[in-house]
Amino acid sequence: MSDERAERIADFIEPLRVEPGSEVCLERDFDPRYKAGLKKREGIELLRTGVSLLSEYQERLAAQNTYGVLLCLQALDAGGKDGTIRHVMSGVNPQGVRVSSFKVPSAEELDHDYMWRYARRLPERGEIAIFNRSHYEEVLVVRVHPENLVRQRLPESAVRHGLWDRRYREINHWERYLTDNGFKVVKIFLNLSKEEQRTRFLKRIDRPEKNWKFSAADVRERRHWGDYQEAFSEMLSATSTKWAPWYVVPADRKWFARISAAAILAHTLMDIDPQFPDVGEAARKDLLVTRRDLEREAPAGEPADPYAEKRKKKRKKKRKKKSKKKRG
Ligand code: ATP
Ligand code: MG
Repeated sequence: MSDERAERIADFIEPLRVEPGSEVCLERDFDPRYKAGLKKREGIELLRTGVSLLSEYQERLAAQNTYGVLLCLQALDAGGKDGTIRHVMSGVNPQGVRVSSFKVPSAEELDHDYMWRYARRLPERGEIAIFNRSHYEEVLVVRVHPENLVRQRLPESAVRHGLWDRRYREINHWERYLTDNGFKVVKIFLNLSKEEQRTRFLKRIDRPEKNWKFSAADVRERRHWGDYQEAFSEMLSATSTKWAPWYVVPADRKWFARISAAAILAHTLMDIDPQFPDVGEAARKDLLVTRRDLEREAPAGEPADPYAEKRKKKRKKKRKKKSKKKRG
């Protein structure tokens, strides 16, 4: 059963994966409106399945306490990062997830190397960490707006040439190091079309309850659309690796983006295949002794094991129902 589910999920996300070493041209290679031939109703049903799968695997990940998962989410403004996080994580235990949002770096953050602030928010073993924007901003917004680089006050030798290639290399090595040490890294780019972004901005202006989400700066940023597409294409080509692949998720349909993100995360967890720890024979024997002691503590008139008693009653009821059905 589990293998079949894993296979189905792997097939579903395959077209979204950026083949390591391939040369990506975002506009040519990925359609923001792709929906794998699904209808919205089917998609919502699938999301439900995905979320319950995630919940099951997250519990095992936490119990095993050996691996951690880092999910990086990148998108242009109005790409739907917040909604994706909300829906995908709706069924999981909040204690096992930490979400970090990365904005314009603070003075303290700028006083360190560029990876410092991201390294501080990595998952613990047993945890899923979500980066809402991530270290990839360092090769996106910093590249599109070079004044961000000036603010980083790098020594001249570090800015001279090949800066972006060096950053790609450093990021790949960092992610490799994390993977080798038990932290799986998976990266999602929510791929929105320019027209859908325009529609979402208009919606934010028209609907009073969405006004707080509207930012004039986002509309100004839209003027750099072409530069961003180029920066994204180069980043995807250079940093989709076997150990930490990129997935380009079509984002024009929110429901499809959400099921895709859930499927990608579920795939990552299924790949780890965390197991509940086995306490071992000796510990099991100790548990049985404790069990007997607890049973002896039952107050007069109370069953030795109320839980077992309940289960017995339930089974009896079920049997009765069955035989009634047979007779009637
Ligand atoms: P939302 O708008 O949904 O609240 P958001 O992620 O867009 O979420 P904002 O506060 O609107 O959050 O924007 C954060 C800004 O910080 C973005 O414009 C992003 O490009 C910028 N930013 C993130 N990391 C860096 C960085 N390392 N250097 C410069 N700017 C950065
Ligand atoms: Mg914003």
